Amino acid sequence: MSFTAAQSILAANNRGRPDPGAVLVAEDLLWPDRPSVPCPAGVLLEGELRRRGVRAGRGPLHAEADRGAVALRSVFRAGDHTAGLGAAITGSPSPELTERVCGAMAACLSAAGTARTVLLAAPRSFCAGVERAIEIVERLLAQRGGPVYVRKQIVHNVHVVRDLECRGAVFVDELSEVPPGAAVVFSAHGVSPAVRTEAKRRRLEVVDATCPLVTKVHTEARRFAARGDTVILIGHAGHEEVEGTLGEAPRRMVLVQSAEEARKLEVPDPQRVSYLTQTTLSVDETAEVVEALRRRFPALRGPASDDICYATTNRQDALKAIAAESDVVLVVGSKNSSNSVRLVELSRRAGTPAHLIDGPPDLRPEWLIDAKVVGLTAGASAPPRLVNAVIAAMGGLGPVKVEERETSRETIHFTLPATVRS
Ligand code: SF4
Repeated sequence: MSFTAAQSILAANNRGRPDPGAVLVAEDLLWPDRPSVPCPAGVLLEGELRRRGVRAGRGPLHAEADRGAVALRSVFRAGDHTAGLGAAITGSPSPELTERVCGAMAACLSAAGTARTVLLAAPRSFCAGVERAIEIVERLLAQRGGPVYVRKQIVHNVHVVRDLECRGAVFVDELSEVPPGAAVVFSAHGVSPAVRTEAKRRRLEVVDATCPLVTKVHTEARRFAARGDTVILIGHAGHEEVEGTLGEAPRRMVLVQSAEEARKLEVPDPQRVSYLTQTTLSVDETAEVVEALRRRFPALRGPASDDICYATTNRQDALKAIAAESDVVLVVGSKNSSNSVRLVELSRRAGTPAHLIDGPPDLRPEWLIDAKVVGLTAGASAPPRLVNAVIAAMGGLGPVKVEERETSRETIHFTLPATVRS
């Protein structure tokens, strides 16, 4: 493909209009007389450019192109293969734009040429509750076609949501946005009884994708409240799961977010107190909060088995196994994913810098400059393919050896609701 054709990719990205200020990032560097050079780290360069306020798109780039454009390229050894980085600025770039593109290239090249080991945590990525929730929406789409309405994000991951949107799912914040009589899916995080009542009032067909382990906590909330306890929910204010659980017994439940809050808590009858937790909390921090509650209320009762779910616990254990050996830890997950954010915090508490990335474009080359060992994991709502994409992008900067550290094996699988089972 010629450079002119490559420029047309940018035009295509700009809905057919020429985009003179845009930058083409090479997916491959092409020469007329020798083999092309792949540029797996182009996705990192694209991210770096966007952070510098530059519009960028990826496509093949003719390495000798210079007609009406500024082209930058670099080819280097990445272990047993050759990799490249390249960018071309279309039109007549301003000095500021040229400087930003050069800066982004320099940032990527500063992390290139180093051999790295990736310590891959296992388990990581999708849990059984997330797989079930996604499959429910997929099956509804296959059975009925779009639109399929989903209340809130089905799971907290931008890629999952975008992918399902492209296939016909419509994500709404309120049930009032769902046409009367239509089917609506409740997300994996669960809903309060008030939302169920509202769905009934609007005659909506509910397909419930609430994770069974969240449902367990709801059941406990009702049981503990029914025996006359003040039910303390340990969790984060505003999280959908917390809002749903608190809704089970709003007059009897109180939210506690930290050990500090636990120490100051007042309840009507200290002899009748129980606690529950959000499913995706830090195991260690929650133990501190429970300990503080126990000291304040010696009669405190808890759930028969931990509310922090197996997937959260396993991913934290796996992270602990790699963090100490890593120079930096990358956690693939979205910002609103509670269990992903906890993994970042856990690594930092262990003394290893950690970063939450939604995918390869968020990975800043500067984080890799002195990193010979990179810990890599993903929160329970992050698709496994993103982990592979991060490894592939790093492989574009230098040789990467992947070592998986498995701390437990997950075999849990939840059955689907009858509506979508056939
Ligand atoms: Fe269920 Fe735990 Fe997965 Fe949440 S993280 S969906 S509670 S298994």
